[in-house]
Amino acid sequence: MAENKRILLCLAHMSGNEMAFIEEAFRDNWVVPLGPNVNGFEKDLENFVNHLESASGENGGELEPPRRVVALSAGTAAVHLGLVACGVKPGDEVIVQSFTFCASAHPVTYCGATPVFVDSEPESWNMDPVLLEKAILDRKEKTGKYPKAIIPVALYGMPYQIDRIMEIADRYGIPVVEDAAEGFGSRFNGQVLGTFGRYGVLSFNGNKMITTSGGGALICPDEEAWRKVMWYATQARESYPYYQHEEIGYNYRMSNICAGIGRGQMTVLDDHIRHHKWVQAQYERLLADIPGFTMHRNPGSEYDSNFWLCTATLSPDLKVAGQEDVYKEVITGAVGGAAGVIHAASTAITDCQPNANVEALRVALDKEGVEARPLWKPMHCQPVYRNNPAYVNGVSEELFKIGICLPAGPWVGEDEIARVVSAIKKAIV
Ligand SMILES: *Cc1c(COP(=O)(O)O)cnc(C)c1O
Repeated sequence: MAENKRILLCLAHMSGNEMAFIEEAFRDNWVVPLGPNVNGFEKDLENFVNHLESASGENGGELEPPRRVVALSAGTAAVHLGLVACGVKPGDEVIVQSFTFCASAHPVTYCGATPVFVDSEPESWNMDPVLLEKAILDRKEKTGKYPKAIIPVALYGMPYQIDRIMEIADRYGIPVVEDAAEGFGSRFNGQVLGTFGRYGVLSFNGNKMITTSGGGALICPDEEAWRKVMWYATQARESYPYYQHEEIGYNYRMSNICAGIGRGQMTVLDDHIRHHKWVQAQYERLLADIPGFTMHRNPGSEYDSNFWLCTATLSPDLKVAGQEDVYKEVITGAVGGAAGVIHAASTAITDCQPNANVEALRVALDKEGVEARPLWKPMHCQPVYRNNPAYVNGVSEELFKIGICLPAGPWVGEDEIARVVSAIKKAIV
């Protein structure tokens, strides 16, 4: 029965329009990583990202010049090609927001370059502009070179302080690759994220704002950049009648079948964004009266998050039932159905983990059939990046210890919100 169904963090939701596009691809034998759906999906994305909302309440406008979009096999591939197109080479450094999912940072390593991590400011939880400038100057002093690119991340959909970040990036002539994988449709001052920097990354993985099952896109500033990215995405072929290669390319173009799903999903994108914001508003209203429990909100009128995930923080003195008993056992399965976790944990604890009350709340919600998850563990706290330069202020590490993600998205309706809220209230003693 629907009432007892598990409430997941964020799950793909079909519009009903996807199959027509997929059937067309089969009928016309376009079962390849190019074709009418890929072109159509890219057009839909371009129409969406180029639209400006007017802050003065007039009828809005268009970005000038209009951005172009390349559809790719994953958001991770989009980050990678953004860096390649910025000329990131072995031995270079790239500044990456530390508070993120690993896919913002790993492609730097694919380039043979080094991620340099920068901590967050407490308002948006994203890249701290003051620390960013400090990091740029310190890297220049230590290595003799400026970093090759800057990657701010719209964590959980929340916009970064892009006006200040762009001002600093422009001062030092460093290109910005916006990681808006979680922030598709979020806006800053009415402008869609991913259209401020040189490149913008989108993801259409199964758990993101819209899905193509797996996929991503790179927003490019102009026709010339678009051509370059398209060329790198299709194995960097020179135009001869035979295969001729002068540079290393990648096989990153989106499949025409996946793009068919994307075209169907674009018909409900605005509905999805509206719904995520509505879920956030319900949590803000229904969880307002719990002392020590704080929803993360838009920190100012410039910010317009898509609220891909709704997040909250727990004061360390908030008591949650069972908090004395957490972290006693080594976890053997995948927490919350995370796919592909095949490396079993070797210890029950690590040297940097969420507070006991946060883990107790996660476990209590899990027992009530509600999937919750800790905030993303900052990259500078990850063993794999232990030797990387990091410019930190304690903000992201603290947020990781006190924060939690709550279910959002099209499957979370009035009844599901009521269940999540009552499970939270029941767990807090
Ligand atoms: C999901 C995600 C990506 C990568 O997207 P995939 O499509 O899963 O490869 C990149 N950055 C962030 C912050 C993400 O959450």
